[in-house]
Amino acid sequence: MTVKPPRTAVLLDRDGVVNRERGEHTWRVEDFELLPDVAQALKELDTSGTPVAIITNQSGIGLGLHRAAELEEVHRYLHDRLADSGASMPLTLHCPHHPTNGKCLCRKPGHLLVERALALLQAVAAGSVFIGDRQRDVDAATAAGVQGVLVVSNEPLIPVLQRLKRI
Ligand SMILES: [Mg+2]
Ligand SMILES: [Zn+2]
Repeated sequence: MTVKPPRTAVLLDRDGVVNRERGEHTWRVEDFELLPDVAQALKELDTSGTPVAIITNQSGIGLGLHRAAELEEVHRYLHDRLADSGASMPLTLHCPHHPTNGKCLCRKPGHLLVERALALLQAVAAGSVFIGDRQRDVDAATAAGVQGVLVVSNEPLIPVLQRLKRI
């Protein structure tokens, strides 16, 4: 009997990794700028059969800046832009809470969404990576047993994935 090796995942923060970090909440389609090499990076991950998820803090919902429906619209827009390039939309999980409304378990550096993504992708923590532009992304990864990779905001993704030997 052959035992298949466990699946490992590539997890991505959203703002500053997938779309341009603007230094403020991004919940309008017109403010959502897909970074230039992300569609190509996701296509290559698709080709290698790597499961991918986006894990993002979106406290603008908890702050009352915008509604969940607007976030969904932005993510539909992302889906469509990726589809234009032949890439599939990653599983996308968000924390809608803001710390002023009380502590939740899902806001990074909390690791609940990292665990949930791994479970939904049927991937194991060991060997998976989480690429983010904030220390809280790395901390969420570490707490879940995933390798956290800190990048500079809006840095090209393909070279990072190549360094990690994921593409
Ligand atoms: Mg970020
Ligand atoms: Zn939360």
